[in-house]
Amino acid sequence: MTNRRYIIGGNWKMFKTPAEAASAAKALKVKLINVENVDVVVCPPAVDIVPVVEMLKESTVRVSGQNMHWEDDGAFTGEISAGMLKDAGCDYVVLGHSERRHVFGETNTEVNKKVLKALARGLKPIFCVGEKLEEREAGKTESVVGAQVREGLAGVSVESADDLVIAYEPVWAIGTGVTATPEHAEDVHRYIRELLADVFSPGLASRLRIQYGGSVKPSNAESLLSRENIDGALVGGASLDPDSFTEIVKAAENLST
Ligand code: PEP
Repeated sequence: MTNRRYIIGGNWKMFKTPAEAASAAKALKVKLINVENVDVVVCPPAVDIVPVVEMLKESTVRVSGQNMHWEDDGAFTGEISAGMLKDAGCDYVVLGHSERRHVFGETNTEVNKKVLKALARGLKPIFCVGEKLEEREAGKTESVVGAQVREGLAGVSVESADDLVIAYEPVWAIGTGVTATPEHAEDVHRYIRELLADVFSPGLASRLRIQYGGSVKPSNAESLLSRENIDGALVGGASLDPDSFTEIVKAAENLST
């Protein structure tokens, strides 16, 4: 039992057409209607955002972008700006997801520019960090995650940092079916909180929510979420099915009441 407010995100990645996304949002609106004390966020592909926002009107489920550019506008074919996401109805934006970092080569410096722009435009960043398997095996988890946090959050003021959500997502656990043990996840979450205390302040670090991501599913959600420093989950595969995503949200709700 805890009095913290969990935050559960569903990252739909490059799945669902606008019609399929609207249908999933409709299902979630009904299934989650009585859920209390949990923040729920869905992250649809950009082209699905408007129909999903429309469907989730009068629902407490919030909507997030999956990525954005750091410039306000310009000749950046294929990109989307913070202002566009905000105007389309997003409250959050996922930044520095491991697929952006490792498939598309995003650097800590680029992620940092995005974090600063998102905060300036009133979007709450879901700021993702996490080590690769070879980094973990080489004992570099803390140095990699430490650099991602320090460089990714450089220049963020203490006043604006309250809007941040951190997601620890070990790359080897994303989409692989392999979940970090609750012990490993808790150890890294505690380390991230200590870093946040150093970067910002101990008070702010204790308030900031750190999600775990990496093959979270209904069967392992409770064991992860019951750990002291795990304040939520960023769910990929299991969020595509409204039933399994709802089960994960309910696991959080049960732990918070
Ligand atoms: C993710 O996309 O952020 C993620 C954690 O994916 P999965 O739950 O499928 O591992």
